[in-house]
Amino acid sequence: MPVSGGPEGTPQIGVGKADNSPGEAARTLIPMATPTPSPTSPRRALITGINGQDGSYLAEFLVGKGYQVHGLIRRASLFNTARIDHIYQDPHLRQNNAPGMILHHGDITDANILERLVRSIGPDEVYNLAAQSHVRVSFEIPIHTAESVAMGALKLLEAVRDYQQVSGRSVRYYQASSSEMYGRVAETPQTESTPFRPRSPYAVAKVMAHHATANYREAYGLHASCGILFNHESPRRGETFVTRKITRAVGRIKLGLQGALFLGNLDAQRDWGFAGDYVEAMWAMLQQPAGDDYVIATGRSMSVREFADRAFAQVGLVAKDFIRFDQRYVRPSEVETLCGDASKAGRALGWEPTTGIEELIGMMVEGDLELAAQEKTLRDAGHGVRTERGR
Ligand code: NAP
Ligand code: GDP
Repeated sequence: MPVSGGPEGTPQIGVGKADNSPGEAARTLIPMATPTPSPTSPRRALITGINGQDGSYLAEFLVGKGYQVHGLIRRASLFNTARIDHIYQDPHLRQNNAPGMILHHGDITDANILERLVRSIGPDEVYNLAAQSHVRVSFEIPIHTAESVAMGALKLLEAVRDYQQVSGRSVRYYQASSSEMYGRVAETPQTESTPFRPRSPYAVAKVMAHHATANYREAYGLHASCGILFNHESPRRGETFVTRKITRAVGRIKLGLQGALFLGNLDAQRDWGFAGDYVEAMWAMLQQPAGDDYVIATGRSMSVREFADRAFAQVGLVAKDFIRFDQRYVRPSEVETLCGDASKAGRALGWEPTTGIEELIGMMVEGDLELAAQEKTLRDAGHGVRTERGR
């Protein structure tokens, strides 16, 4: 996303300065000048991880509902907003309408920033999606993973609690919990009451964030909900998650840009849904009279092998002709099978998935064929290519 309308280093991208925090010292609960909502002002949501897969779909969904959406992004040396560029409005071209989306630089591990942001924005709803979200990578960087996933959630909960206390306003909080928490599953399908047996540093950290959220609900009466989301994918999924890795390879192999696909455990089974459906469940949880925990899943699971078979078949190829095993992608401890029971969400939220696995694979393969075609066109014309695209 082009940074326009502000000096370099401004904590916000593309719009006027919204960081109007009075700048109290951290943790001192003195009354503050918080934005006063008027009956006509839009509802405000803060999304951490707004430029991730889910953050981008959620931002789109909330902007479509008339929310003013504030997002936390990390400063990076390259543009990292490709997934949300289409929601961005150039302030120079905007005609007096309030911006739908405002971005703020910050890190989920920085309690001071979180406190300042929550106070200055005065959100009605906070969605905590920021995380080092890759299970395999969490074995390599367990401490960073715990700091972003577990401590990040705790710091944000504290910021929300403090803000409620000083402002007297009520904030609704969403925590991105994960089916990975079930680990070596105690029963199938998994429900809200299935015990957690985490099998990775990522899952261990998510369990802490999950319990911390429930604790803030019970101890402080916070309207806090945990969505125990099973794997959800889309054409915007990060390219190192297995579904997208497969569909990227399908597109590139089909167009002659790649010869083989290296994968780890093909026998693992996952309950894969569409991210666009799942963010609607996040919102629905925060519209309930009280916070609670909900499993969000399709109720159907499939092996990595079958996913690959189906994805390659969509372009007339046979997966096993191209898949090679690479030990590097095997985890030190694996979650072999996951399958969720989302009947509570169906009853309480009226939520159910609308996109089936075949449709999901179809949209991902279609997107990655298009991406490969762009890559091929550039290559054939002698240009270098960017391999990551926000879609
Ligand atoms: P994602 O695409 O990896 O997005 C993660 C987001 O978190 C990115 O915006 C990332 O920003 C941000 N982030 C990472 N570390 C951060 C930090 N230290 N400070 C601030 N932001 C940070 O993941 P996703 O698929 O959208 O998932 C969203 C959330 O749901 C995550 O918490 C994930 O663990 C959880 N979840 C996902 C699934 C799934 O199947 N997708 C299932 C269950 C739970 P950068 O671009 O700067 O890295
Ligand atoms: P996860 O369920 O959050 O770990 O999502 P992933 O998409 O990263 O992995 C899903 C399953 O695919 C896991 O059981 C992995 O072990 C398995 N898998 C097999 N090969 C690969 C690979 O090359 N990359 C990834 N990311 N996962 C793989």
